[in-house]
Amino acid sequence: MSARSLKKRIVSVGECMVEMAPTGEGTYAMGFAGDTLNTAWYLRRALPADRPVDYLTAVGTDPISARMVAFFEEAGLGTAHVARLSDRTVGLYLIELTNGERSFAYWRGQSAARLLARDVAALEAGFAEAALIYLSGITLAILDPADRARLLEALAAARAAGSAVAFDPNLRPRLWPDPAAMCAAVTEAARHADIVLPSHEDEATFFGDADAAATAARYAAAGATLVVVKDGAGPMVTLTEDGQQSHPPERVQEVIDTTAAGDSFNAGFLAAHLTGAPLADAVRAGARLAARVIGARGALVP
Ligand code: ADP
Repeated sequence: MSARSLKKRIVSVGECMVEMAPTGEGTYAMGFAGDTLNTAWYLRRALPADRPVDYLTAVGTDPISARMVAFFEEAGLGTAHVARLSDRTVGLYLIELTNGERSFAYWRGQSAARLLARDVAALEAGFAEAALIYLSGITLAILDPADRARLLEALAAARAAGSAVAFDPNLRPRLWPDPAAMCAAVTEAARHADIVLPSHEDEATFFGDADAAATAARYAAAGATLVVVKDGAGPMVTLTEDGQQSHPPERVQEVIDTTAAGDSFNAGFLAAHLTGAPLADAVRAGARLAARVIGARGALVP
């Protein structure tokens, strides 16, 4: 058996925020969500209990940060690599409903998670003995350039020690100084990834890819050995050294809320892939989980 297959731990890296979702005129329900947290949450539910799933982030030392960490623990996520910073707190977003349309307002500019890659020893400890490290373009976007470089160095060291890296570019231009900076950082991160899980529509907008196959080819050229391109209700395209394949989408009776479609897809896919499923079965597992998630309200659908 290779060293890689003996490792069991999965670690997802990024930011979880407080979510305020409207329940009526001026009233909100508080929850916790964020792209890499959503994927960790679904991974925990999809994987056998002997595969620890940790969340690597930073929070404050105030009561709301403690509630967030308690939420991670209740979800079964490992919190040994959650840094507690006394001079910061967690970010927050508010969902507004205007004529049935959702819009989001964010307060995350000074969140603790922005410092998650400041301490190289913490990154090394967080990545040690990981079978898989998962991160997204949002994880990169919230870091300053020096911290981003430190994170990529730590990923490179972890890969050299036998960990695999999975990366969802999750392009969010609002989090970057300009689209060119976003595309450069995402492409650089993809060079440190084994598995890349992009969504074609976003990629076409910012990289000009003609179709899902072009998105897959671009990330394979960056060095990924496995690319799975999501495309909303369209077929998913995979690219490996064995070639390109198209996979049929799941039919969804009624799309209620597409929040976390991509995040849950990634979790369903990675859980199946990590436990040895053939590629087509793993893609189907991702699509099935995403189909269930978009058929209900909210990011985290039990
Ligand atoms: P993101 O949420 O990251 O933008 P996509 O919109 O590409 O990602 O969707 C991610 C996955 O969710 C798709 O690959 C598919 O499995 C599923 N999905 C999204 N929208 C639909 C839909 N209308 N019908 C069926 N599956 C969907």
